[in-house]
Amino acid sequence: MSKPAKCPKCDAGLVIADDAEVGEIITCDECSAELEVKELDPNVVLDDAPAVQEDWGE
Ligand SMILES: [Zn+2]
Repeated sequence: MSKPAKCPKCDAGLVIADDAEVGEIITCDECSAELEVKELDPNVVLDDAPAVQEDWGE
């Protein structure tokens, strides 16, 4: 079962995968914004993901 969420940028309805985790970055299908999952329970909270500036040494 997936969870409904809303893009804070464009208000588009998004579906968060059931196995999504807090801290995961998802991309809005509508505006391509990168959004960080802040909370999953009881409601999904999304926030702008910070621009990636650090190299995590991948
Ligand atoms: Zn959006």
